[in-house]
Amino acid sequence: LLDALADQAAVAIERIQLVADVDKARLAAEADKLRSALLASISHDLKTPLAAILGAAGNLRDYSAALSEQDRNDMLSTIVDESERLNRFIANLLDMSRIETGAMEPNASLQYLDDMVGSALRRAQKMLSRHHVRTELPADLPMLKVDPVLFEQVIFNLLDNAAKYAPPQTAIRMRAWKDGNWVMIQILDEGPGIPPADLERVFDSFHRARKRDHVLAGTGLGLSICRGFVEAMGGTITSANRTDRSGAVFTIRMPTPANPPRVGDAS
Ligand code: ADP
Repeated sequence: LLDALADQAAVAIERIQLVADVDKARLAAEADKLRSALLASISHDLKTPLAAILGAAGNLRDYSAALSEQDRNDMLSTIVDESERLNRFIANLLDMSRIETGAMEPNASLQYLDDMVGSALRRAQKMLSRHHVRTELPADLPMLKVDPVLFEQVIFNLLDNAAKYAPPQTAIRMRAWKDGNWVMIQILDEGPGIPPADLERVFDSFHRARKRDHVLAGTGLGLSICRGFVEAMGGTITSANRTDRSGAVFTIRMPTPANPPRVGDAS
C-alpha cells in the first residue's frame, strides 16, 4: 500500500511540476510580450519629440538666412516645447522605476491641501489658461500627512489631464471634504469622460483609453504615477464618470493624520 501511495504521490508531484513549468513558461512569455510592448512604446515616445527637435534644429542650421523671423521663432519654440516633453517623459520614467523598485521613500510631514493645490495651479498655469478652474477647499480641512513634492505632482498630473482631455472654455472643479477619518479630494472635468472598460486600466503604465489619445502629448504614465505616489502615502485614487453630465472624476482619499488607518484598512 505504501509503495502504491508513494507512486501516486510521485505522479501527482510530476503533474504539479508540469503545470508549474507550463505556468512559468506562460508567465515568461507574457512578461516578454509586455517588455517588448513597453520598449516599443518608450522608443516611440522618445523618437517623436526627438525627430521634431532634429528637424527644427537642422532647418535653423541650414536655412537660417532664408527663414523669416516668425519661422525661426516657431522652430525655436518647437525645440523648447519638444525638449520639455522629453524632459517630462524621462522624469516620469524615473518616477515609475523608483515606485517599482520601492526606492521611493515619501518624506511625509503635515501639509495644508490649499498650499499644495496653490503650487500645482501655479505650475499648471500655462496649460490651464483656456479652462475655468474652480477650487472649493473648506478652510477647516484637516492637514494631510504627505510628501508635499509627491502630492503636488499628483494634483498637477490630474489637472494636466483635465486640461488635455476636456475642451477649452469648460470648467475644471477641484473640491475636498472630510469624511470620517478620511479627507476626500476630487477633480472633475467636462470632457468626454473615460470608457467604462478603461476606468481601472487607465492607472496601468502606458494604457491610454482612446486610440486618438495617442496624438495628444502624453506618456500614458501620469495616472500610474499618481496611483503609485498616493498609495505610497497611505491613500487611494480611483476614476469614475460624472453622473450629472459628461466628464471624468478622479477621487483621492487620504487618511487624516489623527487617525492613521490600520494595516489592511486602506480600501
Ligand atoms: P497620458 O495622459 O499621458 O496618456 P495618463 O496615465 O495620465 O497618461 O492617462 C492615461 C489615459 O487615461 C489617457 O491616455 C486618457 O485616455 C485617459 N484619461 C486620463 N485623464 C482623463 C480625463 N480627465 N478625461 C478623459 N480621459 C482621461
